[in-house]
Amino acid sequence: MTSRRAFIQILPLAGAAALCANAAWAADTPQVDPKDPQAVALGYVADATKADKAKFPRYAAGQACGSCQLYQGKPTDASAPCALFGGKHVGAKAWCSAYVKKA
Ligand code: SF4
Repeated sequence: MTSRRAFIQILPLAGAAALCANAAWAADTPQVDPKDPQAVALGYVADATKADKAKFPRYAAGQACGSCQLYQGKPTDASAPCALFGGKHVGAKAWCSAYVKKA
């Protein structure tokens, strides 16, 4: 039987293990392929400055995933998940036409 004290001692270890598992998952997460049909449809580019400005006139200089509302990492993270591309990471310097400036 686990006492309350033992449980309290185990809790931080369980949290640290969960964080480590999460970090390992993040490192293994694939990047969005700009040639993926969904990425093509959204005009996704790994380098925001290479956005097709003729096809996507909403693009404005300075826009990039790192400052987008749908970017699920910190602006300083090199890449992070995006709500539109489940299970994959987008680069902080990437861009797509669904860009919404973070509030
Ligand atoms: S929705 Fe935002 S974070 Fe996701 S790919 Fe487009 S610009 Fe990047």
